[in-house]
Amino acid sequence: MQAELLKKLDMDYTLSLLKDMIRINSIVGNEGELAEFLRNELEALGMKCIIDEVEPSRPNIYSKLIGEKIGKKLHFNGHTDTIPVVHGWETDPFDPVIKNGKLFGLGVCDMKTGIACTINMLRAFIESDYSFSGELSFSGVIDEEAFGKGAKALLTSDYGKVDAIVLGEPYSGDELKPIPLGITGKILYEIIVKGKAAHAFRPQYGINAVEELGKILANLDRLNFLEHPDFGKGNYSTLKIEGGYDIYSVVVPDLARMEINRLLVPGETVESAIKDMNKLIQSLNLLADVTINIKPPRYEAYVNDRKDPIFQVFDSVYRTVMGKAPLYEYTSGITDANIFAGEGNIPCLHLGPHQEVAHQKNEYIPLNCLEPLSKMYTLIATNYLM
Ligand SMILES: [Zn+2]
Repeated sequence: MQAELLKKLDMDYTLSLLKDMIRINSIVGNEGELAEFLRNELEALGMKCIIDEVEPSRPNIYSKLIGEKIGKKLHFNGHTDTIPVVHGWETDPFDPVIKNGKLFGLGVCDMKTGIACTINMLRAFIESDYSFSGELSFSGVIDEEAFGKGAKALLTSDYGKVDAIVLGEPYSGDELKPIPLGITGKILYEIIVKGKAAHAFRPQYGINAVEELGKILANLDRLNFLEHPDFGKGNYSTLKIEGGYDIYSVVVPDLARMEINRLLVPGETVESAIKDMNKLIQSLNLLADVTINIKPPRYEAYVNDRKDPIFQVFDSVYRTVMGKAPLYEYTSGITDANIFAGEGNIPCLHLGPHQEVAHQKNEYIPLNCLEPLSKMYTLIATNYLM
């Protein structure tokens, strides 16, 4: 019975779990202790866990409930890492503090609340012995705030072979954070220009790498950006240029390099973006040798079909629990969905707490988001796995 299941959601349990998670430092690179904590928690609920050591002391954790009948597979995902502590915190970021109906702590919004509410849901399924079809699985993955290594490892495991993924990222479906139906991708070009050194009084005997690089820089607006009906066009931004002497010398510089960020819209791929840059550089007839490298991280763009069952189920659950229609958007943030949907073609729903201050000092959630979020997760799971 769905009513019995919802009754088993326990906000005191969820809050105490969340506070414990905030007390564990899981700054990116340091996810081991939180994974161990989650393993203990899930095993105490009776769930078997798999620890997947993505890098030494940086494990993903996976676990699942199997339904009574064959059916679809729904996966709830959270990243266990947080960003480092930024300046200006008014409280200890690792000490959960409640003030004016808000819970403060590093990672509370991005995204320990999503994980805590997911475990609240799993616990309710177990305690009410709720009968469903298919599989309901969970992962805590490392490295979302850096290179997405945890998401990539999940995608290659059995736990990545699912019909839809719910990411507990702080997208609440309101004006502040509409639900993404698609996200742009990005690459970082590294362009290395090799010229020829010569005495700078006789530049005609050399090839000036800095000036050759300058020609590329001045022509970047000729890159060919695809126009997408929902996203519009991608863009570029030069992040860094380097070249010339370290210690003053009258020498034609023989080496220069630059790094350029490029946003990709669906329809553009990492490969098409490399081709485009190549074409531009070829057209300039430079004397220098130019190498185009792509530096990590790189992310494919994706767009999801709003008619996919996960969005249909979500839309009606949101209306039931929140009493209004959710808002949607096509956005340019990067999340692990760029890997799950962009590389794995798995429909991805982002749904988490209300966000005002992720990636900033004094990160918090409003405490009253725990209950509706836990309810929505639970109803999404029951309705999707009927
Ligand atoms: Zn996040």
